Amino acid sequence: MLSRDELEANNRRFSAAFTGGQLSSYPARKLVVLTCMDARMDPLRMLGLRDGDAQILRNAGGRVSEDVVRSLILSQQLLGTRHVLVIHHTKCALLNVTNDELRQTLRGTLGTHIVNRDFLPLGPDVAASVREDVARLHDTGVLASDSVVHGYVYDVTTGRITAVD
Ligand code: ZN
Repeated sequence: MLSRDELEANNRRFSAAFTGGQLSSYPARKLVVLTCMDARMDPLRMLGLRDGDAQILRNAGGRVSEDVVRSLILSQQLLGTRHVLVIHHTKCALLNVTNDELRQTLRGTLGTHIVNRDFLPLGPDVAASVREDVARLHDTGVLASDSVVHGYVYDVTTGRITAVD
């Protein structure tokens, strides 16, 4: 683990070179990216974006969870975003597992049997999970009528995104 000293020293260097103090909270590209929390991915960098361009919603898998819907409504209605990208990725820890298998694993590591929580696993096919989440977003009925939603799979071995129709 990094020590707090290291983290705080890193931040002092970051702050010393910081130039983003005048950025607007309204995303300049009107873009929201929903993606996985996987440490190998940097959503801004992989899409050629800069601070202030987009809002990034991340969770395990990049799934359309209740909290993602909450955030997206606020993003669109208060901060003017309209373009939504759903990006799942290859080699995701939530690919090819079921809730039951996850609960079994966690029973071993956590020592507790978690019964009711849905971990929103992706299933066996990452493109299918993207399609499912794009459809789920439309099904919420709360997207702005002029929203544009696009789905992609990010390949962690090449850094490339592939559109999912
Ligand atoms: Zn992942």
